[in-house]
Amino acid sequence: MKLHERAASELLADLAGGKLTATEITQDFLAAIRARDGKVKAFLQVDEEGALAQAAAVDAKRRRGEPLGKLAGIPVAIKDVLCTRGTRTTCGSKMLQNFVPPYDAHVIERLRDADAVLIGKTNMDEFAMGSSNENSAFGPVHNPWDLERVPGGSSGGSAAAVAASAAPLALGSDTGCSIRQPASLCGIVGLKPTYGRVSRYGLVALASSLDQIGIFSHDTTDAALMLEVIAGHDARDSTSVNVPVSEYSQSLNAPVRPLTIGLPVEYFDKGLDPEVERAVRAALDVYRQQGATIKEISLPNSTHAIAVYYVVATAEASSNLARYDGVHYGYRADKFDSMIHMYSRSRGQGFGPEVKRRIMLGTFVLSSGYHDAYYVRALKVRRLIKNDFDAAFAQCDVVMGPTAPTPAFKLKEKVADPLQMYLSDIYTISCNLVGLAGLSIPCGFTSAGLPIGLHLLGAPFSEEKLLRIARMHESATDWHRRRPVL
Ligand code: GLN
Repeated sequence: MKLHERAASELLADLAGGKLTATEITQDFLAAIRARDGKVKAFLQVDEEGALAQAAAVDAKRRRGEPLGKLAGIPVAIKDVLCTRGTRTTCGSKMLQNFVPPYDAHVIERLRDADAVLIGKTNMDEFAMGSSNENSAFGPVHNPWDLERVPGGSSGGSAAAVAASAAPLALGSDTGCSIRQPASLCGIVGLKPTYGRVSRYGLVALASSLDQIGIFSHDTTDAALMLEVIAGHDARDSTSVNVPVSEYSQSLNAPVRPLTIGLPVEYFDKGLDPEVERAVRAALDVYRQQGATIKEISLPNSTHAIAVYYVVATAEASSNLARYDGVHYGYRADKFDSMIHMYSRSRGQGFGPEVKRRIMLGTFVLSSGYHDAYYVRALKVRRLIKNDFDAAFAQCDVVMGPTAPTPAFKLKEKVADPLQMYLSDIYTISCNLVGLAGLSIPCGFTSAGLPIGLHLLGAPFSEEKLLRIARMHESATDWHRRRPVL
């Protein structure tokens, strides 16, 4: 395997053994980006100079014998929804195309403390609304396994960057699918931690009761390492929970025994691609061979999850996005006659069509007269979905199924039909409504060579167990070692 195709843990071993320097690693990844990103378009900005300076600082620290952080010298790509001090943070929107945050997000501070090398900001659906990355104001990202297909979304750039070996690790955010679905479509590991596990401070909000920051990596070892770095309490996010952070990477190789896997009958119904189903069933066999019990369960309210999400998430988004008014920061229209005109022009020109659709829908479901019929009712069904999962986790350690109903679809295939696009999140969206931990790991390929993901859902704060369960599959297969030819 070429240097830039290796996992972070392997690079860390060579750094510690003195076989590689952070500068050599960073140079190699920068060269990979230069060679490949013209085709993949995962990055909105690559910070060559900054990355090399960070790498040189890590090398100097090592030479002086100073203690180094857990990710010392490892390049990390950052979804452009996370505030980076002094570096543009666009959220994939014209509205924020010139926004330079005066502060770092909590996770960025953590990465800097861990001596990681921040290599660049990645493309995404505008304000994280989408499942294909086609809603970016700066153009689509291409799936490294087939450049005519989408990488998934909304963190399409981060997923494609790792899949294309342009960075061994990346950060993304997940409100309904946005880490797990692109990870699945790009053949890599995607971890959405429990709501409250990672501080959202400095994450530009889409839907605050659903958003969570998470990880893209080639394998579970790297995901575990990165989680150790970014998880933990932060008083600046009132929903951050003070639960101890485990040494996830240390316990990873201990299999979970006995292991009971819940298989929701609702997840193997119409709409599921037969090749995806076959790969997921083969993954279940891998667990059976290791002694796991597979139990059919029912999540009867999961059929309402998409409807509930598109009420709750749009309501919260309409409120969160009210701050982009052309006054404080962000895009402001050139010509206007009055203040109201300035607001409406700035918002009309700054936001793309999907964002406008969501703001209108969200404002409608919150408006007086409709609030109880839509928003309040959606909250009640959200509770029923949670009750289903509570019942499931009383009988099993993990819920498994496909991450997405189909492999990567063609660019433009679903653009004209938002409902079809929304349906690609059918298996991932409940996780956010309930605040669970969710993980997608590679579990096979279609006959056309497109990756397929296995979805693992765990009870809140069960990341340690979830990663160990994922590792059981990974240690018996080699899907995580495949790399696309670019
Ligand atoms: N696809 C969903 C949406 O468009 C979820 C996106 C996300 O997780 N950020 O809202």
